[in-house]
Order: sequence, then structure tokens, then C-alpha cells
Amino acid sequence: MRLIIASNNEHKVREIRQILGSFFTDMATLKEAGLNIEVVEDGATFEENALKKAAEILAACPAFDAALADDSGLIVDALGGAPGVYSARYAGEGHDDGANNEKLLYELRSTPKAQRGARFASSVALLRRYREPLCFTGFCEGEILFEPRGENGFGYDPLFYYPPLQKSFAELNATEKNAVSHRHASLMMLKDALENECENWSLF
Ligand code: IMP
Repeated sequence: MRLIIASNNEHKVREIRQILGSFFTDMATLKEAGLNIEVVEDGATFEENALKKAAEILAACPAFDAALADDSGLIVDALGGAPGVYSARYAGEGHDDGANNEKLLYELRSTPKAQRGARFASSVALLRRYREPLCFTGFCEGEILFEPRGENGFGYDPLFYYPPLQKSFAELNATEKNAVSHRHASLMMLKDALENECENWSLF
């Protein structure tokens, strides 16, 4: 089964290949397949966005049998779940990670430590022709810091404190982060579902 991955983000693609590689005969990113498809992420949930992305990309890629897409973001309790599905454009269209982080710190300027709980969420959707879609959401629990810490990662990593390791996500290296991340959690759920399918098929 040939899979098209609806992402060109190197870090995500490496993790997807590591975790799901054995289920597909061939995996290509949009870039590797020579495609440039923009999907508007206008869903109300991460799941909706991931499913929409996978559906549009599978429809546009007749040479592939399946499409994998993800959507992720940060959910902050004290902000009623914001920035949520707007995480990438929290400070407005065209703004960068730095501006998003500044806005987050500003919005939480009066919020004490005890109320700075937050979680990253990742929804991953696998769409195959003539099959029900598979969609799973993984989370990673943490707290929002009062100032950035660390140089690694991307997005909100410098402000996301992960209590079990007593470090911000930007203070972890890629291997440490991948072992506990929301994306890892959702991909492992998908892997379990595919393994279950394989076991059930072998019963027939
Ligand atoms: P997307 O799923 O690639 O569209 O990511 C949405 C946005 O959520 C990103 O632009 C980041 O701001 C944020 N985000 C998602 N995952 C992470 C993460 O692992 N670390 C930091 N920020 C993240």
C-alpha cells in the first residue's frame, strides 16, 4: 500500500516513517511526490482538520492508496482552551513563533503558576480508499512558563514546561521530546490500530 504523507515537516516525517514504516510498501511526502497542495485548515477541531487534509490529499493523489495527515496545537486551561486550532496563527496570519509566544505570555500575564496548566494535542488521520478512516488524538500535559527556556524545538516549545523531566520542551533533545510528545502518542495509537487490523485479518 502506497502512502502519501500530507506534511513536509522533516521532524514529523522522520517520526512517521519510524513508527509506521512497516505497514506501507512506499511512503512519500508531498514534496517528494512533486506536489504542492494547500489545504485550508478551517475545522473546529484538530480531528476535523486532520481528516479534511487527508481526504483532500488522497483525492488529489490517484497514484497513492492512502493519505496520512495531522493537526496539532496547544490548549491552555486559563484561556478556555486557546490557542487550540489557531495555535499556528495565534498572533495573526503571517506572524511567527516568536510573536505567538509573546502573545501567549501577555494573555497569561496575571495567571499564577497554579493555574497555568496546558497540554499539546495531536490528531493524526489515516484515510484509505474504500475503508473507514482511522483518526486518533494524543496529548502531552504540562504548564506554561513565565519566560522562554531552551533553544531546541519549534513553536511553543520554549514556554511549555514538562514536569516529569523538569524541563521545557525546548530544553529536550529531539529523541527525548519524541518519546513523550503528543505526536508520538497519536502515532502510537494509530500503530496499535493497524497492528490489530493485521492480527484480525490473519484470523481469516
Ligand atoms: P501544525 O499541526 O503543524 O499545523 O502545528 C500547529 C501549531 O501548533 C504549530 O505552528 C505550533 O505553534 C504548535 N505546535 C504543535 N506541535 C507543537 C510542538 O510539538 N511544539 C511546539 N509547538 C507545537
